[in-house]
Amino acid sequence: MEALHDFELVRAATLDDVLKARAAHPQSALVGGGTDLMVNIRRGIVTPPVLIDVTQVGELQAVNADEGALEIGASVTLNTLAQDDAMRRHYPVVAEAAHAIAGPTQRNMGTVGGNLCLDTRCIFYNQSEWWRSANNHCLKTTGDTCHVAPKSHGVCFATYSGDLAPALLVLGAEVDIASPSGTRTIPLNDLYIGYARHDDAVEGDGKNFLSLEAGEIVTAVRAANTSGLTSAYDKIRIRRSIEYPVAGVAVALLRDGDALVDLRVAVTGTNPRPVLLEGTAELCGGPLNDDVLQGLDALARDQIMPMKTTFTPGHYRRRVASVLAQRLVTRLYAE
Ligand SMILES: Cc1cc2nc3c(=O)[nH]c(=O)nc-3n(C[C@H](O)[C@H](O)[C@H](O)COP(=O)(O)OP(=O)(O)OC[C@H]3O[C@@H](n4cnc5c(N)ncnc54)[C@H](O)[C@@H]3O)c2cc1C
Ligand code: SF4
Repeated sequence: MEALHDFELVRAATLDDVLKARAAHPQSALVGGGTDLMVNIRRGIVTPPVLIDVTQVGELQAVNADEGALEIGASVTLNTLAQDDAMRRHYPVVAEAAHAIAGPTQRNMGTVGGNLCLDTRCIFYNQSEWWRSANNHCLKTTGDTCHVAPKSHGVCFATYSGDLAPALLVLGAEVDIASPSGTRTIPLNDLYIGYARHDDAVEGDGKNFLSLEAGEIVTAVRAANTSGLTSAYDKIRIRRSIEYPVAGVAVALLRDGDALVDLRVAVTGTNPRPVLLEGTAELCGGPLNDDVLQGLDALARDQIMPMKTTFTPGHYRRRVASVLAQRLVTRLYAE
């Protein structure tokens, strides 16, 4: 039995409360539903002295979706998102991804902000303190070796597994970020800096996978609609009722007559970041045929870089991602 360490809980009612608490407690952690953070605290992976509960902050509760745009506050629960009629009608990829997360209990508690900022995962990391200690820890915590890739020279390959990020990436979403020194908006793709093979400059890895600065909080995610774009999300998991993705794939496409004119594919559960596949525009311009699907498979093989960080072999997850992507593209093109 593992005991929680002593910590102070700050229940914020306004964004101003959150930012003041962040400034006053630099070592604090934000807590949404706590469905991931509390597990990591119980396992002794992180021990923040102060938790700032953001679930009751009024400014973070918006859910707006219409044919023009979507806006989702960071403290909106996954269940609210999955069941929102307008979201399901105009942005099905987002509602489907939210519905595919964990089980009903976690979706009732878990939030959009917590899901977007979900810690990366690894079989050598998501373990009890005594298990990790028996293995001399690893460099994502207090050790000095990566057990997945002992010659990684300080790089961690833990896997990003949040389901919402790929769904929002194919919509071209942006995130709003606030801190005691102001606000900024960045493309959602730029929130993630975990190493992926096609990145030009390697900024981060599975340990440092978010571009958030100290004291910053994600407040909302927004996206403009593209007229005629259809979208969907699917994932393969070991237990269909409640499980992280072996691989999760979001697809958005636009068909004009017999031509595929826009194609966006994003993948989670494979790399230290959600991967928005590059090169899909080159597959557009003609009808969907075997050449396009083979081209998509080639992009996935090149850019998906799964390591043996979860209970399935890396190469299997890459194949799952490619097959899911091809199935979704074929289905959406035929609709
Ligand atoms: C059995 C089980 C199965 C699961 N299956 C899945 C799954 O299939 N797919 C999936 O995606 N997840 C899964 N999860 C993980 C988790 O339940 C979800 O990702 C959930 O959305 C996390 O949200 P939360 O609000 O509970 O996050 P929390 O645990 O509260 O926080 C997670 C992280 O985000 C940070 N954070 C929270 N809010 C903000 C904010 N506004 N700005 C910046 N940082 C913030 C926290 O500090 C923490 O580091 C599973 C968890 C369990 C226990
Ligand atoms: S990939 Fe390596 S460093 Fe990262 S959590 Fe796993 S064992 Fe640790």
